[in-house]
Amino acid sequence: MKNNNTIRTLGVLTSGGDAPGMNAAIRSVVRTSAYNNIKCFSIYKGYDGLINDTMSEVNARSVKDIINKGGTILQSARCDEFRSAKGREEAYNNLKKRNIDGLIVIGGDGTFTGATLLEKEHNFPVIGIPGTIDNDIFGTDYTIGYDTALNTVVDAIDKIRDTSTSHNRLFFVEVMGRNSGHIALNSGIAVGAVEILIPEEKLGLDKLLKTLERNKKTGKSSNIVVVAEGDTIGKNVFELAKYVEKKSPNYEIRVSVLGHIQRGGSPSCFDRVLASRMGVSAVEALIEGKSNLMTGILNNKIHLTSLTEAITQNKINENLIRVSNILAT
Ligand code: ATP
Repeated sequence: MKNNNTIRTLGVLTSGGDAPGMNAAIRSVVRTSAYNNIKCFSIYKGYDGLINDTMSEVNARSVKDIINKGGTILQSARCDEFRSAKGREEAYNNLKKRNIDGLIVIGGDGTFTGATLLEKEHNFPVIGIPGTIDNDIFGTDYTIGYDTALNTVVDAIDKIRDTSTSHNRLFFVEVMGRNSGHIALNSGIAVGAVEILIPEEKLGLDKLLKTLERNKKTGKSSNIVVVAEGDTIGKNVFELAKYVEKKSPNYEIRVSVLGHIQRGGSPSCFDRVLASRMGVSAVEALIEGKSNLMTGILNNKIHLTSLTEAITQNKINENLIRVSNILAT
């Protein structure tokens, strides 16, 4: 790649919820910069580091031994100051002070919203890399961290199934996904859940009760219901368990909330390769003078989408709901 010299120095940060594979993305951005003779600054704690000027110059060696590590070496933070124009102006001034002429942000929809505002208000080149376990970003089939999180969830629920079968219990397992059911739907199919409750589908309590009654009659011994944390059934997972226990007293119910283990762990091979490809593409996009875009992957090809479009939520795959319904028979 030939650098047309519009970009001499770039900055990279991770923001929002951490996701396994963010380190592989940082490594890729830093090494692709070095390869193209671009100076690179790593910025700590997301937008907070931009506003407080906590950044340092890094080189290819600075990112050794991180491709296999979970979390983010740059740390992440929720930064309310960046939500105001004044905060973004301070961030811009610090970028200029360091002669940084392009910024790569690794995060989710909130991170991208902030980046578009920075670019709009200060005409500052930004490229986004989707790093979130939720997979709720438009313009990419996969976000960094999603595959690893799915594997963590499946591994945990497989263990729950062992005890569920041994004691003939019904388990409600809550997985992450405040506004999206990608993790719940895919892990639910992978673990053979009898029902999957996701925010995108209004399943309703009656349907859930009907399924459970049918299962009891057909002699299903173990039952797993996967619940996305943002499901809109109107009850949290504990209230839901109590409600079902009252309506179907023949079930012995337990609740398991998987929580933050879903964010951690060493990234899967898939996430490492995805992050590596996206990092290269993000730096090359800046070199080519592009801005306000997110690098994604569609049908296994790198694809750039406008950041504004990227933050309109990725739709759930309706066919997966059908598959799940058929297989839960
Ligand atoms: P995840 O999907 O994993 O939660 P995210 O990037 O959506 O990741 P958020 O906490 O929503 O995580 O956003 C990260 C940061 O982006 C915020 O702390 C804030 O600094 C910035 N940000 C979010 N929304 C806005 C906004 N509307 N305007 C300006 N900046 C924003």
